[in-house]
Amino acid sequence: MASSHTVLMRLVASAYSIAQKAGTIVRCVIAEGDLDIVQKTSATDLQTKADRLVQMSICSSLARKFPKLTIIGEEDLPPGEVDQELIEDGQWEEILKQPCPSQYQAIKEEDLVVWVDPLDGTKEYTEGLLDNVTVLIGIAYEGKAIAGIINQPYYNYQNNEKEKHRNDAKAGPDAVLGRTIWGVLGLGAFGFQLKEAPAGKHIITTTRSHSNKLVNDCISAMNPDTVLRVGGAGNKIIQLIEGKASAYVFASAGCKKWDTCAPEVILHAVGGKLTDIHGNALKYNKEVKHMNSAGVLAALRNYEYYASHVPESVKSALIP
Ligand code: AMP
Ligand code: MG
Ligand code: MG
Repeated sequence: MASSHTVLMRLVASAYSIAQKAGTIVRCVIAEGDLDIVQKTSATDLQTKADRLVQMSICSSLARKFPKLTIIGEEDLPPGEVDQELIEDGQWEEILKQPCPSQYQAIKEEDLVVWVDPLDGTKEYTEGLLDNVTVLIGIAYEGKAIAGIINQPYYNYQNNEKEKHRNDAKAGPDAVLGRTIWGVLGLGAFGFQLKEAPAGKHIITTTRSHSNKLVNDCISAMNPDTVLRVGGAGNKIIQLIEGKASAYVFASAGCKKWDTCAPEVILHAVGGKLTDIHGNALKYNKEVKHMNSAGVLAALRNYEYYASHVPESVKSALIP
């Protein structure tokens, strides 16, 4: 029987359940104690067993239900059978109760591109900075990021020592540990309490493990009151929507489309703005190059202040 729900809302509802399963896998790998770390391009570009298992889980679960989607995942994995235990078939019913924005009602499965970062903040994950870690599923249509899901597997872990390293496959939406944030442009973003950073203060959040002179020059030019250096693109967007930071500034290549797609939607859905360092919108067509070569600039409010303070020297060093 044909579903009465649109492809987009069915996809978001499924991706929500899949992201929750991903969070469970991320916690399981830590609990089992063997991260099996592989170095990719450098000592700060790592892959763990969790990155691999979660990518297999997300991409296979999505492809089974939505075979015509284009799915682009961060990790380069050999093809092969995926363990049935990694497949998630559920869909989050609360999402199916929401209306699909009219401009997306006619979207077909083959028109959508899904960008998957199975584990964002891997360097921090390997160092035990667990609340920096997120799972990112971003959905794009006609080159634009329109829907996104962020699971934060260790949300609350420092507030609840007992729940730390919880390894409970049944951990559901009411579990104290972990949360899932989701959003669709034109509908809104859910799963967190929107809060603005203190007005008049420039609290800048940036990379913890991929800094360089350009990154620091750009931040200095913005007269920061505070600079927060934390891991993860997902984590930094969460800081913006929860009032912990006023801007996310990363004047460097290094971030990829799977890092920005889902976070961008959540920020845009609540009225914020994310661009490259020149102020250009990021593109998410399947043909696009993966690297965000011209960095990232994002704010919930007051974006123009930060955009107008990017030095020309920084702009000319970062070619889109
Ligand atoms: P960060 O803010 O350093 O946590 O970076 C956000 C995302 O971009 C993470 O997924 C990083 O792995 C990725 N990233 C940023 N810079 C680099 C880099 N120089 N090499 C590899 N990945 C990077
Ligand atoms: Mg990432
Ligand atoms: Mg990753």
